[in-house]
Amino acid sequence: MRTLLLWMARNPWLKDRIPRLRFARRAVRRFMPGEDAEAALQAAARFRDEGMGTLFTRLGENLDEIAQAGAVTDHYLWMLDALRDRGIPGEISVKLTQLGFDLDPEQTHRNMERLVARAAQDGGTVWIDMEGSDYTERTVALYERLRVAHPNVGICLQAYLRRTAADVQRLLPLDPAIRLVKGAYDEPAAIAYRARRQVDANYAAVGVAMLEAAAQGRRVRIGFGTHDVALVEQLAGHAAALGLPRTAFEVQMLYGIRMDQQRRLAHEGYTVRDLVAYGTAWYPWYMRRLAERPANVLFALRQIVG
Ligand SMILES: Cc1cc2nc3c(=O)[nH]c(=O)nc-3n(C[C@H](O)[C@H](O)[C@H](O)COP(=O)(O)OP(=O)(O)OC[C@H]3O[C@@H](n4cnc5c(N)ncnc54)[C@H](O)[C@@H]3O)c2cc1C
Repeated sequence: MRTLLLWMARNPWLKDRIPRLRFARRAVRRFMPGEDAEAALQAAARFRDEGMGTLFTRLGENLDEIAQAGAVTDHYLWMLDALRDRGIPGEISVKLTQLGFDLDPEQTHRNMERLVARAAQDGGTVWIDMEGSDYTERTVALYERLRVAHPNVGICLQAYLRRTAADVQRLLPLDPAIRLVKGAYDEPAAIAYRARRQVDANYAAVGVAMLEAAAQGRRVRIGFGTHDVALVEQLAGHAAALGLPRTAFEVQMLYGIRMDQQRRLAHEGYTVRDLVAYGTAWYPWYMRRLAERPANVLFALRQIVG
């Protein structure tokens, strides 16, 4: 089922048609407050009042022409202004392909620099999402280049990739900001752990390595991007045993998933950020959410009659 849903996520014919279906549009609302930025900002204002921060991501992936990357960059600059004007504790999380990575990597780097420089004015970090494995090395390399010049940039690494433990060691000397996730794409066994148990074990091992680096005085900003609360609690126990405060890492979860746990963790003194996605190009992103939990397909189908 996971493989089928991830294949559907990449299929252009379905990508064109499914978003037009009314039941699909209704079902996606479970994972996003609305298609427009205003809905995302309003959700973030509510999270602020509940003691949580927000990460914003505007959905959309590969581009046809580089001018589109400029428009995406301008949009995010607008978003950073909106966050400052409304006093919302938010940061943005971007996909390099949306900033032109397939078409012009140098322009992508310049677009990132504009965002990072703007975010720095308000003390914010710009996060780089991690996409499929074709992009991993290029993304890590671009991150290294940016990080040398700017302290406020973060990267997502995927625990299902065999290379991730080494990537963390590679980046630690840069005092990085790393969001660790399990990984949302369909990757072959040659480069990725495919069994859930192995992915979870690697997540824990990489998470512990980051916590130990923090305990040894390394300035690493750690984001645990997972809804696996047992794993978060295991890592929190490890952090406490290392003498780290609850604020030594943050927990990042997606809008609409395990909201009760997000609120509970924030209430208990953990730093929690909810990632709010918005935009009209939600189809591949939404299919990846279904693939993560096939029971969500039933929820989506129920919208046909609901
Ligand atoms: C803040 C954030 C940023 C992310 N950024 C990236 C990225 O840049 N690149 C990337 O490849 N992946 C990214 N992901 C997705 C990630 O890789 C996983 O696919 C996703 O988080 C599901 O795995 P899990 O860690 O929650 O653990 P799982 O073991 O899959 O889930 C643990 C529990 O969480 C709940 N849950 C998980 N997913 C869902 C869902 N879709 N619907 C309902 N309940 C669910 C279920 O109760 C499940 O039992 C991100 C995830 C988060 C939270």
